[in-house]
Amino acid sequence: MRQETVQCCVVGGGPAGLMVGVLLARQGVEVLVLEKHADFLRDFRGDTIHPSTQELMYELGWIDEFQQIPHSKMEDVTVEIDGKAITFADFRKLKVHCPYIAFMPQWDFLDFLATKGKTFPSFRLLQTTEVSDLLIEGGRVVGVRANSLDGPLDVRADLVVAADGRDSTCRAQSGLETIIEAPNIDVLWFRVSRRDDDKVKFFQSGKGVLIFINRGDYWQVAYVIPARAFAKVRAAGLAEFHARIAALAPALSDRMSEIETWDKVQKLTVRVDRLTTWHRPGLLCIGDAAHAMSPAGGVGINLAIQDAVATANILGPTLRSRTVCDSDMSRVQARRELPTRITQKFQVVVLRDLYPKDLNDDTDHYTPPIFTAFQILPPLRHVMGRFIGLGARPEHINN
Ligand SMILES: Cc1cc2nc3c(=O)[nH]c(=O)nc-3n(C[C@H](O)[C@H](O)[C@H](O)COP(=O)(O)OP(=O)(O)OC[C@H]3O[C@@H](n4cnc5c(N)ncnc54)[C@H](O)[C@@H]3O)c2cc1C
Repeated sequence: MRQETVQCCVVGGGPAGLMVGVLLARQGVEVLVLEKHADFLRDFRGDTIHPSTQELMYELGWIDEFQQIPHSKMEDVTVEIDGKAITFADFRKLKVHCPYIAFMPQWDFLDFLATKGKTFPSFRLLQTTEVSDLLIEGGRVVGVRANSLDGPLDVRADLVVAADGRDSTCRAQSGLETIIEAPNIDVLWFRVSRRDDDKVKFFQSGKGVLIFINRGDYWQVAYVIPARAFAKVRAAGLAEFHARIAALAPALSDRMSEIETWDKVQKLTVRVDRLTTWHRPGLLCIGDAAHAMSPAGGVGINLAIQDAVATANILGPTLRSRTVCDSDMSRVQARRELPTRITQKFQVVVLRDLYPKDLNDDTDHYTPPIFTAFQILPPLRHVMGRFIGLGARPEHINN
């Protein structure tokens, strides 16, 4: 059994884990990030980099390099409902350096953070290293056990930060209590080849909702269906599936044969939940490990990054002096819990009517009241732009 000892062990190299790892290492804390995959090349985790995250890149002095990574810009969120384009959020008036959402493959963003991390001597990232157990002594988490290519590894740490996402192993073993919300959607993901003259809208509602992410030579498409409806979609057959997609996006109807089997369609079950307490002695959960987010509104990555910044701001100094204690972790939760609750309510309640409730429900024939409000009161789009773009309590780099 190999053994390592560090000040902070971060489990999970997603947005929350890499960001907190990099920010702590930047403060001189000895950090080891453990990531189970060999690379960051995974689809379906969201490609949105919010204005608040770009502002953090500016505060860190990294914005010029960040902007070298190919991306597209979205200055507002406009949805097409009942044949009308309704602008739901407008980022243009935000007082930040980049008042837009940057669409960038998440693997490029994570690669960028990992590269930045490696410029700090106290940062290490071990990939292909999956945490299997928390090490607990006398009721305190003192580290983790992991499996790596070189065999089993025990890492002992003053603090374990669980950033291992919505299926968090650390959370499952922590004994911390979870409150489960009832999300109303699931998401099917697939790819269709792209042409420059394709006429598709970012968000197309109807019998289901399609969301299109431009990945150059192909569209990464999210088909949002009512929760637990996939069995019915599948039972109706692939031809019916093609017909549903083609009806929502006629421009792509000639490419339905590219979805030749159900293997090309990935189902992601949406979960929304949160821990009542995010920590126990020696362990702090952040990001989806503390509060699994739905894709609705595209705000989960932002929340995960903001948790990471708050964690580094509050715990960096105590980790450096090796005096981190439970009350410091309570301060992280106290800072981030309200934004989490507000954001989850926004996803589950405010955006509920945007999506069909059963497979035959056609949202294109119905404008949810919230969207009527946006039509009547256009300034609301700037309020929503602030909420989606910056989050309920934006964090800044303090140390
Ligand atoms: C279908 C879908 C689409 C979404 N789209 C968007 C979007 O467009 N915009 C948006 O803002 N949010 C979106 N979200 C929400 C967003 O994906 C999450 O809120 C966000 O990824 C949380 O970041 P995280 O770092 O906490 O966790 P994750 O991104 O899940 O990262 C966790 C990391 O931990 C690693 N890991 C897991 N277990 C272990 C282990 N045992 N040992 C070591 N490593 C481990 C994983 O490999 C992963 O790299 C979407 C969610 C879903 C379900």
